[in-house]
Amino acid sequence: MKLAVVGTGYVGLVTGTCFADSGNEVICVDNDPEKLRVLEEGGIPIYEPGLKELVDWNRAQLRLSFTDDLAAAVQRSDVIFIAVGTPQAADGSPDLSSLWSVVDGIADAMSEPRIIVIKSTVPVGTTAAVERRLAERAKCSFEVASNPEFLKEGAAIDDFVRPDRVVLGVRKPEVAEVLRQLYAPFLRTDRPFLVMSPESSEMTKYVANAMLATKISFINEMANLCERVGADVNEVRRGIGHDQRIGFAFLFPGVGYGGSCLPKDVRALSAVARSAGIEPHILDAVDRVNEAQKRVLWEKIKRHFGDGLAGRTLAIWGLSFKPRTDDLREAPSLMLINLLLDAGAKLRVHDPVAIPNARRRYGELLIYCDLPYGALEQADALAIVTEWNEFRNPDFELMRRLMRQPVVFDGRNLYEPEQMARHGFWYYSIGRRTIKPVEP
Ligand code: NAD
Repeated sequence: MKLAVVGTGYVGLVTGTCFADSGNEVICVDNDPEKLRVLEEGGIPIYEPGLKELVDWNRAQLRLSFTDDLAAAVQRSDVIFIAVGTPQAADGSPDLSSLWSVVDGIADAMSEPRIIVIKSTVPVGTTAAVERRLAERAKCSFEVASNPEFLKEGAAIDDFVRPDRVVLGVRKPEVAEVLRQLYAPFLRTDRPFLVMSPESSEMTKYVANAMLATKISFINEMANLCERVGADVNEVRRGIGHDQRIGFAFLFPGVGYGGSCLPKDVRALSAVARSAGIEPHILDAVDRVNEAQKRVLWEKIKRHFGDGLAGRTLAIWGLSFKPRTDDLREAPSLMLINLLLDAGAKLRVHDPVAIPNARRRYGELLIYCDLPYGALEQADALAIVTEWNEFRNPDFELMRRLMRQPVVFDGRNLYEPEQMARHGFWYYSIGRRTIKPVEP
């Protein structure tokens, strides 16, 4: 099949590349000249494990190309995927301006019937609104489908080629058949292809993300409570997780969720609820708990050091909103960095892949360290914000020698409190007690 994917970001580039890899001819469209330049020169504008090899291979096989020419891509493609960003607008609702400019561009360029598939996360009713807009503007017939994406950054290719499910919202069975054929190579192990109305499909994406965010905020609230009453949230997690109605997945306490999806999607669903006349009590609480949780390390740091943070050096391990991505959008690290900078602290930061993005954002305000131990030199404390695998088994003796003071604020519960006390650290984690360190 000949496909166009408009918007070559985390979702569009993975979608286009995986469809090319299953034999389709794919043209990826973007309006960011810098992104296109990097791709044309054989680079990858984002960090996503395994993506470069797949892009290189499919470009070499002439199945994958990049352009800024939307009209040409529309004219030569049977199916057009829209995967542009839908960031949060000032009022909490999603900003759909990129989507509308692409829809208008498609309408003007279409001279033969096309299937337009909305992969961007959009509020319920958007597919219907796109149908109306195209009906007013296009000169030929068209079909519009909703096909939300569930991939996770850091595991995006695997998620795309082995999805838990594919959700498709369509009005006509024949459109579903075209998409079923396109997804068939990824559904060979009986993964469900769920066909429903566009409205249900649009809601499915938001409800899935709202449920995930709710789990995180719930366990974070419970962790804070455990800490206050002398319980250990890890033990409680084990105690509840064996109940199959609850399970273990997505119930890790931490510094709150971030990224380009959960925060904005929870707020977008709240906005949808409000405009439908429903007060979104749970969604609002999930968001509020999360915003507070992003300050949890800061509160612990302030309690430990009192007001004397000016002139102190803090090391930070992990900047991206989660491991295996360079994405800093709404990352909890940003809140911590901003609070510490305002308090006059000097920050030595390390992240395996997100340093270039951090440098673009903070310039000379931070000291960037290529290696985790480098960040610890003469640090008064270490704050761990992202659970990159390489932080799990460090050399604690070396850490203590490098640091000015043996203090660790662990936002991801990577270590055991007893183990840290034995190594002589003041160790603060989430939902667990701090044990007085053993003198070396
Ligand atoms: P992104 O910001 O990484 O990519 C969007 C791309 O669209 C950018 O490259 C941008 O230059 C391009 N673009 C914007 N306007 C354009 C236009 N008029 N013409 C051509 N290109 C244009 O965003 P993303 O993270 O890939 O997310 C895209 C959508 O998918 C969003 O709605 C998001 O909520 C959803 N989503 C994201 C993820 C994720 O993990 N990132 C997962 C599932 C769903």
